[in-house]
Amino acid sequence: MTSMQISTTANANPVDDSRLTEILANPGFGIHFTDHMFLVEWTPDAGWHDARIQPYGPLAMDPATAVLHYAQETFEGMKAYRHDDGSVWTFRPEENAARMVRSSRRLAFPELPVEDFVQAVDALVEVDQRWVPDPSGEKSLYLRPFMFASEVFLGVRPAQHVTFMVIASPAGAYFKGGVKPVTLWLTEDYTRAGRGGMGAAKTGGNYASSLVAQQEATAHGCDQVVFLDAQEGKYVEELGGMNLYFVHDDGRIVTPETGTILEGITRASIIELAGKLGHQVEERRFSIDEWRDGVASGRITEVFACGTAAVVTPVGSLKWDGGEVPAPASTDLTMRVRQALVDVQYGRAEDAFGWMHRIV
Ligand SMILES: *Cc1c(COP(=O)(O)O)cnc(C)c1O
Repeated sequence: MTSMQISTTANANPVDDSRLTEILANPGFGIHFTDHMFLVEWTPDAGWHDARIQPYGPLAMDPATAVLHYAQETFEGMKAYRHDDGSVWTFRPEENAARMVRSSRRLAFPELPVEDFVQAVDALVEVDQRWVPDPSGEKSLYLRPFMFASEVFLGVRPAQHVTFMVIASPAGAYFKGGVKPVTLWLTEDYTRAGRGGMGAAKTGGNYASSLVAQQEATAHGCDQVVFLDAQEGKYVEELGGMNLYFVHDDGRIVTPETGTILEGITRASIIELAGKLGHQVEERRFSIDEWRDGVASGRITEVFACGTAAVVTPVGSLKWDGGEVPAPASTDLTMRVRQALVDVQYGRAEDAFGWMHRIV
């Protein structure tokens, strides 16, 4: 296995130290970007080629670039964490790389090898390591690898010119002023994924289709939208960008099975972690009636959602047109699972599963 040759052009005008200090003190989310970006391109003849790190900046794009018309695109979301000793780490990056390979197959893209993906992310984080915030308040450097159809062509077929990039953006705590339960809106008008569709792929199209449902949720005073299965309109799938868990009074935890949902890396990690904490985890179909009746009877004691951005968040009440399920009684296990995961990510607990990957 040979590693990618990456050429680097340093940014001649990097953000100065005092401005950087200002940004890192209050980074927000997805607003500020680091001094550099990673790119590599693919064509059928040359394969992946011309891997490079260059100053961050706009891409010149022909208006006929295929992604702008047919949405052939996949992306990933991950974070780099600074530990108290100054070192910088990512969490299970090979899982993000493997998921991008699966998304790529669904979107008819060439596959970027797992080791090249990890090398690209490592290289960018190393070059822009001063942008990784201190760990206070769960700050991190959010990493956005993505692949898109960069061929200039309006015919409908898989692109013959593909670009993979990584950009990075410092991120503040997802919850300002402490973790608080999210309220959910159950949409009966929209679904996010059908059998044979692309629900399991991390692609912009799924987000485009979720926006109007999210608008509906906001209009009803809820934080996030929850989607049901497209076929029967009965089984809980997930939120727009987070997976769901249902904690029972006997310690069992149920999470919707894979298939049409996005296979979250946080979701998979929690399955392992909960097992270690002595909980039995069931991956199966879970109906909206089971949710309603379980909370009503007290058999469901907690509901939580998970994803890279928020890590783990308690779920409060669930509303739909003409009905409501109140918030479950507790958030104890939710907060314990959250803490356990965050402690591993920030190097404050033993990494028993070997999840952390050191970059700096
Ligand atoms: C990214 C994403 C998640 C969460 O996945 P993580 O790997 O845990 O960040 C869940 N649902 C959807 C639709 C997503 O796009």
